[in-house]
Amino acid sequence: GVVTRFAPSPTGFLHIGGARTALFNWLYARHHGGRFLLRIEDTDRKRSTDTAIEAIFDGLNWLGLEADEEPVFQFARQQRHAEIVEQLLDRGEAYRCYASPEELQAMRDTQRAAGQPVRYDGRWRDRDPADAPKDVLPAIRLKAPRTGETIIEDLVQGQVSFQNEQLDDMVLLRADGTPTYMLSVVVDDHDMDITHIIRGDDHLVNAARQSLIFRALGWRPPKFAHIPLIHGPDGAKLSKRHGALGVDAYRDMGFLPEAMRNYLVRLGWAHGDDEIFSTEQAIEWFDLDHVGRSAARFDFQKLEHLNGHYLRQADDGRLVGLVCEMLARKGQDVDADGRARLLAIMPSLKERARTVAELAESAGFLFAERPIATNEKAARLLSGEAPEILAGVRDSLAALEDWNAAAAEAAVRDYAETNELKLGKVAQPLRAALTGSNVSPGIFDVLVALGREESLARIGDRI
Ligand code: GLU
Repeated sequence: GVVTRFAPSPTGFLHIGGARTALFNWLYARHHGGRFLLRIEDTDRKRSTDTAIEAIFDGLNWLGLEADEEPVFQFARQQRHAEIVEQLLDRGEAYRCYASPEELQAMRDTQRAAGQPVRYDGRWRDRDPADAPKDVLPAIRLKAPRTGETIIEDLVQGQVSFQNEQLDDMVLLRADGTPTYMLSVVVDDHDMDITHIIRGDDHLVNAARQSLIFRALGWRPPKFAHIPLIHGPDGAKLSKRHGALGVDAYRDMGFLPEAMRNYLVRLGWAHGDDEIFSTEQAIEWFDLDHVGRSAARFDFQKLEHLNGHYLRQADDGRLVGLVCEMLARKGQDVDADGRARLLAIMPSLKERARTVAELAESAGFLFAERPIATNEKAARLLSGEAPEILAGVRDSLAALEDWNAAAAEAAVRDYAETNELKLGKVAQPLRAALTGSNVSPGIFDVLVALGREESLARIGDRI
């Protein structure tokens, strides 16, 4: 069966490009009833951090892209990687190179000065090991083919060929005994039984190098699918400036994981004109044939739009939880009463909001302390004859037996008609008094969410 993997280097946050790579691998495995594995490529000890590892786990969990097995940590497999290099040496597919760092530097300088491509010239490839200097520890290099070409049948890029003379004898094991990235990836992909490598097209040249190592080992390389990178709306490679933030930042801004999944799968892959579809649908449809060859553009507004769609579909209780979490992060605790108010108004709040942050912002009035602060426009709505109108409508409301939206609406309309006022003349100051703002969800929903006591008290503050 199909086995895919996501193999991030834990050197920063899980960014949007990485999340999309993980999603494609996950979808491909799910579509084929296969397995999706996670490998943490933590061999760069200086740049790998535990925080970054946590960010990867958290981000994948949040997105719902859990791996089917325990993650593999690459660094822990060093011994295995080194053993494989020994096997290559034994089989004559690799050799020891005794060139010192200084010597290699001089070689490169000469190549550069002569305008030649900079690459290892194979100086120890056929040399008698008896010549080995005593004081230099050797690196071990692959004895790569010097002529011909290496062809990758890429499932996205098509057939891509590389001239072997351009792929020099790469180092497999450094002089200090540590395996290189190129070697580790090959051994791990083999040992994990990976059948398909789906990753960014910045790894395309690596695919050629890696398939040389696979062949030298007598192993069959997995199939490759190199997906175009994500660009910003301006066409330049995605950077922080474009919103290339960590996945955690999107969560904190109030995006829903299902919206992120829907948005990310459409970055570089299409199913006709379908824009909005469930993850189940994506699993059914996903393939590599419809991954485009040109860079996808990241469009924050589209993501917001999509998120708004998913917010409207989301369960109100879940959204209350998310808003409260967000407020808690800002140091605001919402009590049971506040939660009940929030739940009551949620159907109306979510009609307009695109993110949980917007929900939280528009819900702010629910938790305000009396007398509540007002914005400038609300202050204007509360001046002039407003106090008089508010006093009148308060009495009508106070007389209600049942406190519900329909009854409140009837009372307010009745008051407006009786006093020959347009509905807005009454509703606007009412909105300002209850929410401190000139914009809010429907005013009758607001009355219900705040409850009788709090509503009447807020109106009373303006009389
Ligand atoms: N660790 C590599 C990266 O984070 C990915 C390697 C691979 O997918 O083969 O860019």
